[in-house]
Amino acid sequence: MAYKSINPNDGKTVKTFPELTDEQLENKIATAAKTFETWKKTPYAARVAIVAKAAELMRTHVDKFARHATLEMGKLINEARGEVTFSADILAYYAKNGERFLAPVKLHPTHGEAHMESSPIGVVFGVEPWNFPYYQLARVAGPHLMAGNTLVVKHAGCVPQCAIEFEKLWIDAGAPEGLYTNLLISHEQCDKVIDDPRIKGVALTGSVAAGRSISARAGTNLKVSSMELGGSDAFIVLEDADLEKTIPWAVWGRMYNAGQTCCASKRFIVVEAIADKFLEKFKAALEALKPGDPMDEKTTHGPLSSEPALQQLLHQVDVAVANGAKVVLGGKRLDRPGFFMQTTILTDVKPGNPAFRDEFFGPVAMFFRVKDEAAAIALANDSDFGLGGSVFTKDVARGKRVASQIDTGMMFINNIDWSDAELPFGGIKDSGYGRELGNMGIQEFVNKKLVRTHDMVAPLV
Ligand code: NAP
Repeated sequence: MAYKSINPNDGKTVKTFPELTDEQLENKIATAAKTFETWKKTPYAARVAIVAKAAELMRTHVDKFARHATLEMGKLINEARGEVTFSADILAYYAKNGERFLAPVKLHPTHGEAHMESSPIGVVFGVEPWNFPYYQLARVAGPHLMAGNTLVVKHAGCVPQCAIEFEKLWIDAGAPEGLYTNLLISHEQCDKVIDDPRIKGVALTGSVAAGRSISARAGTNLKVSSMELGGSDAFIVLEDADLEKTIPWAVWGRMYNAGQTCCASKRFIVVEAIADKFLEKFKAALEALKPGDPMDEKTTHGPLSSEPALQQLLHQVDVAVANGAKVVLGGKRLDRPGFFMQTTILTDVKPGNPAFRDEFFGPVAMFFRVKDEAAAIALANDSDFGLGGSVFTKDVARGKRVASQIDTGMMFINNIDWSDAELPFGGIKDSGYGRELGNMGIQEFVNKKLVRTHDMVAPLV
């Protein structure tokens, strides 16, 4: 059974859900395609009414949504509430701005007049991860529904109740059947969905492996796709950083969502002059976190999402150590039920160690000591990933100069990678392509059509 709610706090199975049969899947795609024919002609005001209502319902029922996330993937309850509210903000943002973002744009050819108009393309297929079980869905639903597309979405196998709640949200908001459809399907069925001619675009957020497989399939079918993949973001600390402010950000950057965030701070790159002090304070702050039930508001260190996720992380630490890394904090499973990992710091991770290029998806920080700013930039760029990164310095102009030299899709000064509805989110290199959120996010799955008027006599040939 691929779709299962397992409580990461105690490892107990709560509920299982059957996958769709091929016949059920066919019916759902057919309904989404039929609904597109009316939705694409539905005026913006009517689209706004549904998307804004969905935002309002999320805000009204924050706790109900949040508890499902905490139960299924172990997110701290307060973080889960924050995610639900932010998801509502994203929906409200696109309800408010979608029409403006997609308004015709006047162009200025040498002769005649022209404009570019944006129109929906059809049914878009979303494949989404468990780590932000609502935010990831809102990132595709807000823009692409406002653009006039319809959505079919395969959520991760471990968060079926979150997936079902989010689908129900749209029905409760007054959406027609087929506007937003949850698909409990296998990977093989995903391939069939991508091949289906009624599907016009594919949006994935997930691992690099999933990105390679799904983007290849979309490419073979000549379908537009966006890939939001993994990351190993640098957290650069320059010698003039204010450590009182930097340390809390380092802890938050690594430990938010139990470290299971694509754009979490994963590689702590600290200039020599301040390195010992940083390491000592960072270690003490990580040690002070309190493991416990993520439903308990006092808990500050929650479980990982699943037993396989924990096993993978423990294995990565073992491999790192076998190849020369030193463990200065943690490194083991916590001695308690559930999927808990000790907060961990690895040092002496050298090029050639598999850990040097790996993504650690959990509470494992890699610490690197470098000579100066130039060495910090070089190390930050020595990565297959290119999602985000941070620079800490009292000199903001210096921070901006450093940020400009890092090869990623996003950079943050005196702050960690953080998303806002208004700001584009996404990466380069193995972190994928395309952008979600902001104005750019709604432009990914629309047809940009040129319309030109040029009243002239045809040239003779
Ligand atoms: P994952 O294993 O790639 O799963 C993500 C989604 O893809 C799930 O729905 C999964 O379904 C599905 N999937 C995986 N392989 C597939 C295949 N071959 N065919 C069809 N569907 C497939 O990733 P994860 O472990 O859940 O999530 C963590 C990864 O996502 C990390 O690398 C993280 O950095 C990345 N991430 C990136 C962003 C971003 O915006 N850049 C945001 C969040 C997470 P099943 O669950 O059924 O396997």
